[in-house]
Amino acid sequence: MKYYSLNNKQHKVSFENAVIQGLAPDSGLYFPENITALPSSFFDKIEGLSNEEIAFKAIEQFITPEIPETDLKQIIKETLSFDLPVAAIENNVFSLELFHGPTMAFKDVGARFMSGCLNYFNHNQQKKSTVLVATSGDTGGAVANGFLGSENIDVVILYPMGKVSDFQERQLTTLGHNIKTIAINGSFDDCQAIVKKAFTDIDLKHKNLTSANSINIARWLPQMFYFLFAYKELKKYKKPLIVSCPSGNFGNICAGVLAKRLGLPVSHFVASTNANNTVPRFLKNGIYEPSATIATISNAMDVSDPSNFIRIRELYNNDLKAFSNDFTAYSFTDEETKKVLTEVYKIKNYLMDPHGAVAYLGLKKELEKHPGSMGVFLETAHPVKFLEIINETLNSDIEFPEITNPLSEKEKIMKICNNYEDVKHFLLK
Ligand SMILES: *Cc1c(COP(=O)(O)O)cnc(C)c1O
Repeated sequence: MKYYSLNNKQHKVSFENAVIQGLAPDSGLYFPENITALPSSFFDKIEGLSNEEIAFKAIEQFITPEIPETDLKQIIKETLSFDLPVAAIENNVFSLELFHGPTMAFKDVGARFMSGCLNYFNHNQQKKSTVLVATSGDTGGAVANGFLGSENIDVVILYPMGKVSDFQERQLTTLGHNIKTIAINGSFDDCQAIVKKAFTDIDLKHKNLTSANSINIARWLPQMFYFLFAYKELKKYKKPLIVSCPSGNFGNICAGVLAKRLGLPVSHFVASTNANNTVPRFLKNGIYEPSATIATISNAMDVSDPSNFIRIRELYNNDLKAFSNDFTAYSFTDEETKKVLTEVYKIKNYLMDPHGAVAYLGLKKELEKHPGSMGVFLETAHPVKFLEIINETLNSDIEFPEITNPLSEKEKIMKICNNYEDVKHFLLK
């Protein structure tokens, strides 16, 4: 399979090059040249397949034979070494819990898959490279964990200073070894802009920089597994399925749209955002106009210019009408998020994190329009990652002692940088 740059369809590279470069030299995102739907028999029999089998069938066309079948199966096995359960919350409303991985956010799957691919390619070539990654909170921890101890790979994480939770910051700054962390005096969008700039800087070429954000094809593609797993669990209810994703950089929901392109029977997607509402505004007025990033309690979604939205547009050939038939976007305030988090905890006895709560709000709103449907929202992070805000919201003192203690004793180590030049200097050192 070849991948083309969304800035220039003539520029095509192999899967390996797309993974290693992260972003095309013209700054375009890579996109698969062909997408072939899976046979309907696959969906007819999906409940009889293991998660690993489902994942392999879905992703095989994008990766083999560059990574041979047996190696790909091994990477999938290591990627999916934890549970991804569906919890029933109320009538026709389910939560797909994606936080049972090592860093307790859904990004573990993408990060581990990517690390498996990059290690495979590096191992064959004895090459050294640096993974440079911007994080709004959870990506950095997942990537650090996925690459910790990888022999030929250094990881440099950029995060917006003061805009991630204490738990997240500990995951970013306490690992050491081949993991280095930079706190940027700015927003996530600033971090993302610095990363993009570094990729096109010839002074850094010898560093073999690669991205591990969802702009990287190896992080983005495996996220489609979630949607297939959710369907496998919910198919038995025989109702049209609505999926709501808490959306920031729009990688996750874009992978859902890809799964639909493979034939997955999802009747509707809801992109649920916090106050950073560039996409909901775009769907209303057709104008894509990012504004300044707003800090919210669902900080991993504090993104005003979502990188992957362009991939979703490509999946719909830029046909806005076809797109809006399948896709709705809603934005919610922190007040609405806190209110629903409290209600669901008190009434349904289910503790959501602020991101899951935003997705729950979007799902409920969409279900009102489709009374015969059922819906699943993606619960993308464990509540422990946002304990301060949850306890403040619920006026409670919930604890997860077994989870918080080991990290809280470690010293946070990070370099503070104000701009691109500072980061470049750090990378060259
Ligand atoms: C990254 C993240 C999101 C947003 O996912 P995108 O793919 O960037 O849209 C949502 N929730 C949590 C907990 C996250 O870490």
